[in-house]
Amino acid sequence: MDFAENGGLVGQVYNIQRYSTHDGPGVRTTVFLKACPLRCFWCQNPESQSMQPILMFRKDQCTLCGRCIQVCPNRANSIVDGRLAVDRKLCNACGACTKPGVCLAGTRKIEGKAMTVNEIMDKVVSDYNLYQNSGGGITVSGGDCEAQPEFTAELLKAAHKNLIHTCVEISGAFPWETVKMITDHADYILYDLKCMDDKRHKEGTGVSNKRILENAKNLVKENKRIHFRTPLIPGFNDSSEDIEATARFIRDELGLNPADHLELLAYNNLGEDKYLRLGDGDMRPSYQRQPDEYVKKLKEIIASI
Ligand code: SF4
Ligand code: SF4
Repeated sequence: MDFAENGGLVGQVYNIQRYSTHDGPGVRTTVFLKACPLRCFWCQNPESQSMQPILMFRKDQCTLCGRCIQVCPNRANSIVDGRLAVDRKLCNACGACTKPGVCLAGTRKIEGKAMTVNEIMDKVVSDYNLYQNSGGGITVSGGDCEAQPEFTAELLKAAHKNLIHTCVEISGAFPWETVKMITDHADYILYDLKCMDDKRHKEGTGVSNKRILENAKNLVKENKRIHFRTPLIPGFNDSSEDIEATARFIRDELGLNPADHLELLAYNNLGEDKYLRLGDGDMRPSYQRQPDEYVKKLKEIIASI
């Protein structure tokens, strides 16, 4: 198979999901890369935020057998108040405690590993042979794949060399040169618009939305195929006024029809369990998904703009 010249380039990957139907057109293989510059308080994938691999651990399934304490070279595991505790400052995600035969309760997993472009393309090409008739392809997501721009660009180029349709899911919170380095090789772009109010955007995500909105304008000027999405976070950005402001930005600043270009994603709490496995369960507020009727009303607002 003829892959890109830089097929040996190494990236940090935390998941490869086959048969994805919500990450761009058709059926796709979605490659989730590590690292993200945002710190959204509702993040569904907290294990993706850092570039380094990280240990996930299910405290509630631990049988206190003590095997992980014996094998850990960094003495990161101990029993505190009758429960197994992991000292995150000592754990370097070496993976010794996740090896077969150590934790028989299966509570431990390392998220994140180094992979080359060629290793990923082997999987993507074999998947693509199965579902190319769907109009799908590869989607590179994260974390935020803009945090590994050279690797993402090489992956997209390798896909194009194999005539595979490419899509990226990005925040746009990077300098334009970085965004362009990636999107030059993307046939389709999934782009989050989280909140039009810059002060609240900063409070909710840790970064300003100014660069995100400017990069959206640049991508539209370049005639890129772009699909905007707003994850609806209860009490943060799911009011009628918020959605109206986003729809108006798409119509007035980008010159696009919001009804065709803006998708609303109702809140889901699938990530909450991950905070427990990272040992940050108490940090994570819990929310209710918006009722279907309410989301329908917001969609009607978009259609009316
Ligand atoms: S991943 Fe390595 S350092 Fe971390 S707890 Fe397990 S054995 Fe110790
Ligand atoms: S090896 Fe698994 S079950 Fe045993 S103490 Fe460690 S985490 Fe708990």
